[in-house]
Amino acid sequence: MTTLSGKTALVTGSTSGIGLGIALVLAKAGAKLILNGFGDTSKAIAEVAQFGGQVGHHPADVSDPAQIAEMFAYAEREFGGVDILVNNAGIQHVAAVEEFPVERWDSIIAINLSSVFHSTRLGLPGMRAKGWGRIVNIASVHGQVGSVGKAAYVAAKHGVIGLTKVVGLETATSNVTCNAICPGWVLTPLVQKQIDDRVATGTDPQQAQHDLLAEKQPSLAFVTPSQLGELVLFLCSEAGAQVRGAAWNIDGGWLAQ
Ligand code: NAD
Repeated sequence: MTTLSGKTALVTGSTSGIGLGIALVLAKAGAKLILNGFGDTSKAIAEVAQFGGQVGHHPADVSDPAQIAEMFAYAEREFGGVDILVNNAGIQHVAAVEEFPVERWDSIIAINLSSVFHSTRLGLPGMRAKGWGRIVNIASVHGQVGSVGKAAYVAAKHGVIGLTKVVGLETATSNVTCNAICPGWVLTPLVQKQIDDRVATGTDPQQAQHDLLAEKQPSLAFVTPSQLGELVLFLCSEAGAQVRGAAWNIDGGWLAQ
């Protein structure tokens, strides 16, 4: 069993959904956790704290490079740095490209792509100095294929996979690895909103959920946050030490089509 005792993991966007699921698996494996994100932070902190390790939260808005820098300064001060960086924070907006609101494009690129660059450039020197580190970027199947209405999200996630490859190469001879994970549909608030949009057009909720899966995900089952957490844990293990610059899909068969 992989033990992460003595390691500190920073998971961006970990107050709900996939990020919280990953934080729980890493905390169970013994890591200290720095949570980040909005909403009900005390509930997320309490859930992660049940495993007994140190837990902190930093409220950085990752669309702002200065706030990301403050989060890394906090990590250094309170935890002695970051050993495992999971770049997970992300948002979605669905609209045709010619109607896509410019400010939504800018936010999606800032949160889903540029924040990964800023966290990586700020986190990597500490990992190199300690001689060990793991960077895991939560991309998406939309880092490898497109879908209508998701211009900004698809562009950002393709960018995340490109950045992952470069960082994977730049760290290739070290004990730091950088990889991307590409989930298919996971039932989180981000996806529930897309189901709700279908329900708003008069579709029955069960049917809306089934239709969403049936269009893309052959398993007709959602990927779970804890399955994604276990994959992150594998990438943190010795067995995962030579997985470098990969874009690993976990998608119920989406990309096999
Ligand atoms: P979610 O909406 O449940 O959670 C997003 C998290 O990011 C929350 O904690 C939120 O507070 C935080 N966040 C949002 N904007 C932020 C900002 N500016 N600064 C800091 N934190 C911010 O979404 P999710 O479905 O768990 O998505 C997590 C990641 O997984 C995203 O990068 C998303 O693109 C990716 N993903 C999700 C799915 C899916 O089906 N849900 C599939 C593939 C990839």
